[in-house]
Amino acid sequence: MISKTELEHAARLLKEGQLVAIPTETVYGLAANALNAEAVARIYEVKGRPASSPLIVHVASVEMARGLARDWPEAAEALAARFWPGPLTLVVERTEAVPGIVTAGLGTVGLRMPSHPIALALIRLAGVPVAAPSANRFTELSPTTAEHVRASLGDRIECILDGGPCEVGIESTVLSVAGGAPVLLRPGMISHAQLEAVLGRTVAIGGAVEGAHPSPGMHERHYAPRTTVYLVRNGQLPAGRGAYLYVDRRAEAEFAVAMPPDAVRYAQVLYEALHRADEARLEWIAVEAPPDGAEWSAVHDRLRRAATRE
Ligand code: AMP
Ligand code: MG
Repeated sequence: MISKTELEHAARLLKEGQLVAIPTETVYGLAANALNAEAVARIYEVKGRPASSPLIVHVASVEMARGLARDWPEAAEALAARFWPGPLTLVVERTEAVPGIVTAGLGTVGLRMPSHPIALALIRLAGVPVAAPSANRFTELSPTTAEHVRASLGDRIECILDGGPCEVGIESTVLSVAGGAPVLLRPGMISHAQLEAVLGRTVAIGGAVEGAHPSPGMHERHYAPRTTVYLVRNGQLPAGRGAYLYVDRRAEAEFAVAMPPDAVRYAQVLYEALHRADEARLEWIAVEAPPDGAEWSAVHDRLRRAATRE
């Protein structure tokens, strides 16, 4: 893990307007002081990400979140009480304290309190909320280890905090509670059903609404390895040499990876498996479609985005 000195150094960098790569329980983030527009501009520059994509702001408490929200609806209060710290981003109306560059000019901001102890300690120590998208170049696969961050951004940032492999392994669930009726903008490991249970009401699924937001999840090649990814059924592999990720083995391949049979553990290792398959530099990566069922919906969503072919 990391020392107090390292953490203090990282907090100082954040306060000075520099970038720090941080572990969170979802994926590694490229963090900057969210209240410093110049620092946030560096995130876009380093990632090569278009400034039309809003960033998630990470906080260390519900109070810190409330301070950035023009309106903190009851739904936000109930969901934060139940799921924070954890992999749920709440989109609410923002105050003027949040620079427009953080939210791609939107009047709303996505807020999340991460549960990773290093992320929390760093935000507390820096004393400011941190804007942090995944710590990879734009369109690349999200990093779930410090090594992934080093491979993608090691030549562009000085400070990478190593907090071990990410426990959740895929990006947070994103829910908008800004417009009155709650809308799920991105599925994650906190499920649609869990959100509805806490809210005691129907949660719309955001295809159309998400289209109204310039959100990075909409870019086709988001979350994708460099190697062509095929989502396959019944072991229908392409010709040539490739990697085959399966729960239920249906075929033989050069590089075969057994994936865990439950959705939580599958999500945990998905990006690591894709990173390794990608590094093998084969002709393709084929992923056997995992089971259907609500608990798999976030995994299916990320696989659809990673797959260039179906
Ligand atoms: P990433 O930083 O790559 O994990 O992606 C951030 C995600 O947060 C996007 O896919 C959006 O769905 C969502 N998001 C962040 N801020 C907002 C916002 N103000 N309005 C709508 N969606 C947002
Ligand atoms: Mg990303």
